[in-house]
Amino acid sequence: MYRNTWVEVNLDSIYDNVKTTKDICKKKYIAVVKANAYGNGDYEVARTCIEAGADMLAVSSLDEAMILRNEGYHGKLLILGATNPEDIPVLIDNHISTAAISFEWVNKVTQSNCKGLMIHLAVDTGMNRLGFKDLATLKEAFDRLLAAGCIPEGIFTHFYCSSEIDHDITNKQFQLFKEAVQSLDYPFEWIHCDNSDATIFFQDELSNACRVGISLYGLSPYTNALKSVVSLYTQIFMTKTIHKGETVGYGALHTAEEDEIIGTCPIGYADGFIRKNTGRKVYVDGEYAEVVGNVCMDQTMIRLPHDVKVGTTVEIFGDHISIEKMAQELDTISYEIMCLISERVTRKYIRHNKVMKECNQRLINSNIQKNNIISH
Ligand SMILES: *Cc1c(COP(=O)(O)O)cnc(C)c1O
Repeated sequence: MYRNTWVEVNLDSIYDNVKTTKDICKKKYIAVVKANAYGNGDYEVARTCIEAGADMLAVSSLDEAMILRNEGYHGKLLILGATNPEDIPVLIDNHISTAAISFEWVNKVTQSNCKGLMIHLAVDTGMNRLGFKDLATLKEAFDRLLAAGCIPEGIFTHFYCSSEIDHDITNKQFQLFKEAVQSLDYPFEWIHCDNSDATIFFQDELSNACRVGISLYGLSPYTNALKSVVSLYTQIFMTKTIHKGETVGYGALHTAEEDEIIGTCPIGYADGFIRKNTGRKVYVDGEYAEVVGNVCMDQTMIRLPHDVKVGTTVEIFGDHISIEKMAQELDTISYEIMCLISERVTRKYIRHNKVMKECNQRLINSNIQKNNIISH
C-alpha cells in the first residue's frame, strides 16, 4: 500500500455472519456476491462464505460469474440478472445457472441450442423489475425451456419492502410466489425468495434456500447478532493553522472564523468519498472532526479540534461512525456507500485475527498488463 487510505474487511466477521444467518434460516444458503461482493472483493468474500457453508454463489451478470470462475470457484453459481441470449453457450460450458427473465428471453434462448442450460425462473410478484407476472405465460415459458432440454433447477422471486416494519407487502408477494410455484407442480431443487432481511424475519414453509447479501456485512435492521465487517480509514498527512478570514479548498467554501487547525487527508471523491460529505464528521484521535471545504478528487480537509501527528488515522466509518449513520446523513443506504468505494482504495483483509492480505486491485491489474506499450 503506497497511499494511506484503506478499507478493512473483516473476513472472520463475515464467516460468523454466514454461520449466524444460516442458523436462523435453516435452509440451503445462497451468498449474493454481486458487484464485487458489494465492493468488498468477490474472491475473498466468496471464499469465506464457502468456508462457512454457503451452498451457492449468486452474481448479477455473466461478467461477474466468469470472474469468479477465473478466480477458481467451481461450485454452484447463479446469475440473478439478465444474460444475453447469444452468451448461452458460455453459460453451458462453464456450468453457470441463469435467471429466465421474460417470455421474449425464453423465446430467443430456445431458438438456438440451449440443451443443458440450468435455469432459475424469475417470478415478478410486484417489484416490476425482472420476471414473469402472469401464470399462463410462466407455464408456457417453463414448457418451452423443458422441451428445449434446459434444466429448470430453480424458481425465485425478490421482495422489495422487506426492510420495512410493516410486512403486508412481503406477505402479499409471498402468496403470489407460492401460487406460481404450486401452479407449475415441479420438484424444483432451488426455491428461493428470502433476501437478508426476509431471511431474518420471514420463516416461510415453501422456500428451501435463502439468498443473503447485505447481512454478510452485519448490516441488518432486525438483529444485533451480526458483526460489523467493513471500515474505511485514511490518515492525516499534514496539518496547518489558518487564521480568521482564510478559506479552505476549491470555491473557498469554508471561511475560518477564528484560528483553526486544518488536517489534509489523501481521500477524495475518486475514492467514493463524495462531495456531499462536506460538513459531516469523521473520527480522529478520540474526537469527531468536521469535513470543511469542498471534497477534492484526491484529498479532503478536516477541521481538527486539536493538533495531531502526521500519520494519525482518520476513521470515515467503523467503530465510532456506523456505515448506516453515514448512509443516513448522505440520504442513501449502506449498500451504496460500500459499492461506491472505488478500486483505487486498498483493501486489507483480516482473517484469523490478523491482516491476511492487502490488495490494490488496479495495481494488480496493471501488473498483468506489464508488457503493454503506451509509448516508446
Ligand atoms: C441483491 C439481491 C439480493 C440480496 O439482497 P440483500 O438485501 O443484500 O440481502 C437477493 N436477491 C436478488 C435478486 C438481488 O438482486
